[in-house]
Amino acid sequence: MVRRITLGSGDPKRLFVGGLHGDEWRHTSGLLESLDAPGAGTLVVIPKLTDLAYVSTLDERYYTGYGRDLIAAIEETRPAIYLELHSYSDFDGLTDSRRIDKKGVPAYVELEDGVLIGSISPILRRKCFSVHNFCVSFEIPDENGRSHRTITRLLDFVKDCVSVGYFVDFLLEQYPEQGRVAIANYKRFYGLV
Ligand SMILES: [Zn+2]
Repeated sequence: MVRRITLGSGDPKRLFVGGLHGDEWRHTSGLLESLDAPGAGTLVVIPKLTDLAYVSTLDERYYTGYGRDLIAAIEETRPAIYLELHSYSDFDGLTDSRRIDKKGVPAYVELEDGVLIGSISPILRRKCFSVHNFCVSFEIPDENGRSHRTITRLLDFVKDCVSVGYFVDFLLEQYPEQGRVAIANYKRFYGLV
């Protein structure tokens, strides 16, 4: 049974997930566990989905293995806002501008202190979400204490988000250049332009 923490109540509902594969949870679970209840609506946190051997969320096999627990949690929660928190060691691979050709997903964009923003797996997006959902993925370096301040601020913001528009305004205000790139990637990827 995957542990879930439910904070607050009512709409909008948000689901934050960490520890999506391998030992990633070591870098992400503590951050998710320390979140407070949102000002309005619900926040459901899964600090550690699994600690089993790494399978990429871009691989179909992910969703027939421990990813089934993730799909079950999404179907039960039906979040308007869905966030994955990953940790990485391969900065160059994630931010490679050719990632869209190599992996079928846009490159991550660095916001600050090694914190990257990008898209969730298109497999999960197709299975569980529509264009009305706001889905975002953050990646933090697996060894860089500096990133904690930035990611904590971002998590705190998304936790209180009520819509994608709210987040877009924040992103463009805080990170005008990177925000524009991230938003353009997102729209292109989901066929919104
Ligand atoms: Zn990951």
